[in-house]
Amino acid sequence: MSELGIGLIGSGFMGASHAFALAAVGQVFNLPRRPRLEILADATEDLASQAARRFGFARATADWQTLIADPAVDVVHITAPNRFHVPMAKAAIAAGKAVHCEKPLAASLAEAMDLADLAEAAGTTTIVGFNYLKNPIQMLARDLIAAGEIGDIVSFRGIHAEDYMRDPDAPWSWRLDPAGGGATMDLGSHIVSLARFLIGDIARVSAHATTVFPTRPGPDGKSREITVDDQCHALLEFADGASGAIQANWLAAGQTMQLAYEIIGTKGSIGFTQARFNELRLYRDGPDQKTSGFRTITAGPAHEPYAAFCPAPGHQLGFNDLKTIEMRDFLTAVAAGDTAFPDFREAARIEAVVDAILTAAEERRWVKVLG
Ligand code: NAD
Repeated sequence: MSELGIGLIGSGFMGASHAFALAAVGQVFNLPRRPRLEILADATEDLASQAARRFGFARATADWQTLIADPAVDVVHITAPNRFHVPMAKAAIAAGKAVHCEKPLAASLAEAMDLADLAEAAGTTTIVGFNYLKNPIQMLARDLIAAGEIGDIVSFRGIHAEDYMRDPDAPWSWRLDPAGGGATMDLGSHIVSLARFLIGDIARVSAHATTVFPTRPGPDGKSREITVDDQCHALLEFADGASGAIQANWLAAGQTMQLAYEIIGTKGSIGFTQARFNELRLYRDGPDQKTSGFRTITAGPAHEPYAAFCPAPGHQLGFNDLKTIEMRDFLTAVAAGDTAFPDFREAARIEAVVDAILTAAEERRWVKVLG
């Protein structure tokens, strides 16, 4: 069995999560080709060599182009800040490498579409890190909806709110960079990915977005004007007529990870919150008003691929397990020369919704979603 040589660019929050998943994936799943941790790149030699040692990579470099050109690298993982995604992914596609890129795919819709076109033309296997789609309970929700268990979908209400940008004096973060920053790009893209996964295409949007802190300390410590949004509310019109509302907010005091939705159908409802992500709440009309109400379904071996991690129901998956499922899907597709989900095309469609939301907020009008 041959191996797949891995190159990882970036060793922060997501770099560590990819490294965790790369270490676990061959043990949890029976892969056709196991990953071999070849080379890690970061912004400096020090950062790269420390992380390479910690994650178990054989070599380290401060030059991501060297990593991409390395003949021992078959697969490139991009976990660097958003403004690097396009040049790194373009170079990896041109070098004939499979690409696992973190979200959002690009800073603009045009660049995201361009990357999707390039990857398809080159026959490159790609995936983008919308890891919450890999929760087995989301597949259950999708199957229940597809089977008509809650009837025709009437509405989707979703939120992704956290509080990590609450402090107006906090040190500069690339998340404030106009090239790919902002709450809607950073958090809103996740709830949009779920809305598309569960309900389908979004046709039109309107939105209101605000920058609550118009200045923050820049990278040099001096006050800098902020142009990206801190919070956004959007109304959605799905292609099949369902109605939606979503919120992205990174100033949400007290909320460390509120990714949640409620879906209402003509015969029932589904509710989910990431805070209890091993559970799905399901309401279906029953014969008896006295005992009707939501019931909670707990994730277990019946929900593929939970059993690969644990034979006992209710013992719960964790955040990095979702990344490990994402890694399985990606590396299996790479070995077979197949497409993976969500690939660059799906990520570009998610970006089209984010782009329409930001345009709608700026121009204060309903905007058709392109793509
Ligand atoms: P981070 O700031 O923790 O890490 C970024 C890493 O990239 C650091 O190691 C940094 O030194 C490195 N880096 C910076 N410039 C570089 C360069 N020129 N060459 C090589 N490495 C460089 O950021 P993060 O939170 O890990 O976010 C990284 C990406 O992951 C972003 O695109 C973000 O949107 C995404 N993200 C996804 C999720 C998710 O749930 N899927 C969660 C958080 C972040």
